[in-house]
Amino acid sequence: MSDPDCIFCRIIAGEIPATVIDQDERTIAFMDINPATRGHALVATREHVRDLLDIGPEDLAATITAAQRLARRMTERLGADGINVLNNTGAASWQEVFHYHLHVIPRYHDDPLRLPWRPAPGDPDEIAVAAEALR
Ligand code: 5GP
Ligand code: ZN
Repeated sequence: MSDPDCIFCRIIAGEIPATVIDQDERTIAFMDINPATRGHALVATREHVRDLLDIGPEDLAATITAAQRLARRMTERLGADGINVLNNTGAASWQEVFHYHLHVIPRYHDDPLRLPWRPAPGDPDEIAVAAEALR
């Protein structure tokens, strides 16, 4: 189940580059191109599922387990002081990519992030360094 018009399906198919940091049978994790903080990553289902209302229990469990894996690495390897795990379901909640994903956002004492953040392109070098730490 893949949607040729979906940007995350195209990342999963390898048609669009992404900085992949983790994968398993049901999930893939890659760096967000507009990071809210240093190390901001996304965990997506391999299958094209629209949102929290559509996802099945196995994928739901697999994605939160993958998010926990990343949260531990963010804490140990990036020095995160806290983690926000966030899912947007529906346009009114700021969902822009309609393929289920969890935002895993490392938080640092005194970081300037206030929700909702204003997405802006991240520094590619900083993203690459954080990705290396999280692989
Ligand atoms: P949503 O608002 O749907 O929960 O979040 C979508 C997220 O996907 C945004 O934070 C956005 O920066 C990220 N994003 C959108 N397009 C791409 C892309 O092509 N590559 C990567 N790595 N992230 C993307
Ligand atoms: Zn998709």
